[in-house]
Amino acid sequence: MKTKYIFVTGGVLSSLGKGLAAASLGALLKARGLSVTIQKLDPYINVDPGTMNPFQHGEVFVTDDGAETDLDLGHYERYLGVPMSQKNNTTSGRIYFNVINKERRGDYLGGTVQVIPHITDEIKRTVRSLAEADNPPDVAIIEIGGTVGDIEGLPFLEAMRQLRSELGRDNCLNIHLTLVPYLRSAGEHKTKPTQHSVKELLSIGIQPDIILCRCEAPIPADVKRKIALFCNVDEDAVFSSVDVKNVYEVPLKFYDEGFDQKVAIMLRLPARNADLTAWRQLIYDFDHPGGRVIIAIVGKYVDLKEAYKSLHEALVHAGVANHVSVELRYVNSEEITADNAAGHFRDCHGILVPGGFGYRGVEGKIEAIRYARENAIPFFGICLGMQCAVIEFARHVAGLTKANSEEFDPKSPDRLIYLMTEWFDFRKQAMETRDEGSNKGGTMRLGAYPCVVAPGTRAHGAYRTANISERHRHRYEFNNAYKELLGKHGMVFSGTSPDGSLVEMVELPDHPWFLGCQFHPEFKSGPMHAHPLFREFIRAAAAQAGEDGAKS
Ligand code: GLN
Repeated sequence: MKTKYIFVTGGVLSSLGKGLAAASLGALLKARGLSVTIQKLDPYINVDPGTMNPFQHGEVFVTDDGAETDLDLGHYERYLGVPMSQKNNTTSGRIYFNVINKERRGDYLGGTVQVIPHITDEIKRTVRSLAEADNPPDVAIIEIGGTVGDIEGLPFLEAMRQLRSELGRDNCLNIHLTLVPYLRSAGEHKTKPTQHSVKELLSIGIQPDIILCRCEAPIPADVKRKIALFCNVDEDAVFSSVDVKNVYEVPLKFYDEGFDQKVAIMLRLPARNADLTAWRQLIYDFDHPGGRVIIAIVGKYVDLKEAYKSLHEALVHAGVANHVSVELRYVNSEEITADNAAGHFRDCHGILVPGGFGYRGVEGKIEAIRYARENAIPFFGICLGMQCAVIEFARHVAGLTKANSEEFDPKSPDRLIYLMTEWFDFRKQAMETRDEGSNKGGTMRLGAYPCVVAPGTRAHGAYRTANISERHRHRYEFNNAYKELLGKHGMVFSGTSPDGSLVEMVELPDHPWFLGCQFHPEFKSGPMHAHPLFREFIRAAAAQAGEDGAKS
């Protein structure tokens, strides 16, 4: 089958959940037995979101091939259960970068390089490359970031307009997601913003085929009819995307309205019913927890949940796997001291220290870890969280009071965590070419790396296999000069690179659950397959909750 394309645009305002809608549609098509891929086109000028601060952009999602991508790719992986790669995310910046490189090479033979056709051609090439893979997908969903009407998004929309005639009408579908607000005072759903947004699309030559309306409650039939009439779409091509309390319900809600059915008819996809048994079971499990655990997430971006998107989801998945609901409590690490740690964590059943960059809040994280270690509270440290756990252990157990990471105290006599430039050619190169004094860009260990798990450890109990692969995004590493000393005091190095040179996991056997990993397991967790480390962490937290319950 030739790859069919579905373009998803957004109108009226941002944050309508375009990524979730695209991912949910993908899940439904996959449940119909089709192979699906999704690509996100972001209109900003950054070449990738790797250099953007989480306050601006939320989490940076890392793929196996080491691409730093938009967090929507996390949704795609979680809903489709297939790994994404660099190909699944591009930005205006990358498109321009490619075109400018070609221009410098002389590829345009002296011609004037312009937005149309050169930029739009590059966009089309990127979109079409999905269908040219070795195993072309049945369906490629292309999500265009931003909102229709933004200046930045125009080249993408123009490329999308051109692709429609190039690919053929039966092979292309345009879905427009808009907001249909409900005005309580008038007791009405209002369609005007949708009409304006579609007009905007029409003015650039794009007629949407399906309108998906984000709304508080399902859109009544007469309002759907009105939208269909004013926006030139079939009456049965207007769907509601209602607010849900659990994002994993979206595919089921779409299915109930016949969304995937309509898409299949319009694209002439094989007539099959979606098998949603696993999704229904998932929602049932969500709705019937046998208990509750409270997990403290100790980090810097506590006011911005988007910054820890995958982490949040991974904990939720692990909750379902253990039949408990997980209540997340974000604690600002800058506020934690040795004196108030108990106050912060007394009623928590687990403490998690996630990844991060920079010194701000690190001492608080170390105090939180100390509290978890000394009070036998299940602890999970991820990336910076593992590094802090190692520093905490060195300072308070192994007696290295000045222990630190080179990132925070380059002059510390005991740099337990350090920059291992000599070991990585790629990093060395990057370090040599970077700006003096700057520490940004191109110097990180990124993407999937193999890891060997030591038998008999907690980590091995979780993974039940010795050879794993996990994704990284960091510069600093554990300093092997301290392995023996920390080992003597009881720290176990349960995961290393296959050649043994890089420590990837540490744990304390003398504790209900105390584990740190240098990688980011949250990127590989899904609703139907909770990540083993999260699963075991939440299992330990649930046991802790049981004990606390028995005590009180
Ligand atoms: N800042 C640390 C490093 O660069 C940890 C990074 C992270 O947690 N992702 O190594």
